Amino acid sequence: MSSLAPTPDQITARVIEQYQSFLNPTQVALLKIGGFDHVEHRGEGVYLYDLDGNKYIDCLGSYGVFSLGHCHPRVIAAVKHQLDLMPMGSKTFLNKPLADLAEKLASITPGNLQYSFICNSGTEAVEGALKLARMATGRTNIVATTDAFHGKTMGALSASGRDLYKHDFEPLVPGFVRIPWNDVKALTDSVNSSTAALILEPIQGEGGIRIPDLSFMETARRVCTEHGALLILDEVQTGLGRTGKMFACEHFNIVPDIMTLAKALGGGVMPIGAFVAASDVWLKMFQKNPFIHSSTFGGGELACCAALAAIQATEDEGLVKRSAESGEYFRRRLVDAAAEFPGLLKEVRGLGLMIGIEFEDSDVAKLVIGAMVHRGVIAAYTLNNPTVIRIEPPLIITQLEIDQVISVFRDSMIEARDLIAGLFDE
Ligand code: PMP
Repeated sequence: MSSLAPTPDQITARVIEQYQSFLNPTQVALLKIGGFDHVEHRGEGVYLYDLDGNKYIDCLGSYGVFSLGHCHPRVIAAVKHQLDLMPMGSKTFLNKPLADLAEKLASITPGNLQYSFICNSGTEAVEGALKLARMATGRTNIVATTDAFHGKTMGALSASGRDLYKHDFEPLVPGFVRIPWNDVKALTDSVNSSTAALILEPIQGEGGIRIPDLSFMETARRVCTEHGALLILDEVQTGLGRTGKMFACEHFNIVPDIMTLAKALGGGVMPIGAFVAASDVWLKMFQKNPFIHSSTFGGGELACCAALAAIQATEDEGLVKRSAESGEYFRRRLVDAAAEFPGLLKEVRGLGLMIGIEFEDSDVAKLVIGAMVHRGVIAAYTLNNPTVIRIEPPLIITQLEIDQVISVFRDSMIEARDLIAGLFDE
């Protein structure tokens, strides 16, 4: 008896039902409204394909994961090679990919950052960094900023800035102080001799792609040093070339005591996170008890091989420079396009290929995101600031592809503008 294979439409309907019954009904309802109710099927470079064969330029890149694009051949090859040897280690013997990755991270991170702990995600990296700061300083207080996004586990959430994601889970971890982003005076008023750490994103990602003033970052470094507090820079989203430098802190010429990484570190193939610290800080936590902080899956061979290949590819393909140059071009074209829509758009900003388009109204941003996806470009708003559409394409995006995105953006803006004008005409 032969059975007919289900059509893409049937598979999509079934997956929607499964989301409704077993995953997240509200999420799937939102995906439907936004035009994202397609089943993704295949990724290659800058492009993502759904089951129906639609092709999209991925300008969201899983919130900054796909700096190398989808399925980078070198990362895939490294992971496949390790897969046949030993996908997961025993955790009892020495792990060579882990050792190679830690050495590589020490060589590419700035200043005296040297020791790494490898985990599985951004939020875990932040948890580890916060624990390290408390233990290394013997202090409890952590200073963080408004609109910050550091993850959704309890410690990272306590450092995050948007109440919407916090208040249902209170009481959160005690000892966290929130100060306004980019406020130099608040920094000097808040960091003191009881501060274990100040945690900052060098450029706020989910807060709406917001670049701090040089004076803010310089003061952050200075007050931490003055008071013996540690500066944690969360480069989970900004790290590994995204902003046109290998690490965003290089734009400000400052070196943190602890840096967190994740997202692009896995080369778009494996989940991985890391926190990297200077040796004097690090050893205060791990010297006496090497298992004071640990993770069963963290530092797994597959993820470490992916990360090594990803860093190597980033270097060999000159992607940091390319991010700076393409970002410059992209922003210039977006600024020109934005000038056609006064009253709807506020600002285009960013560094490298971490670009934000700020709208006057978040509903218009949503309309434009939906219209863009319909035309084959994936974009999304930033989690802590829905008035900002983020553009974070793979760093390998070409000028031609940028031009295509610009054209889609213009057409989508025109559609949104006409729709709004229609509403007022009625
Ligand atoms: N820190 C920053 C700066 C982030 O942007 C994110 C994720 N958007 C995280 C931490 C949390 O990472 P994850 O989702 O991997 O836990």
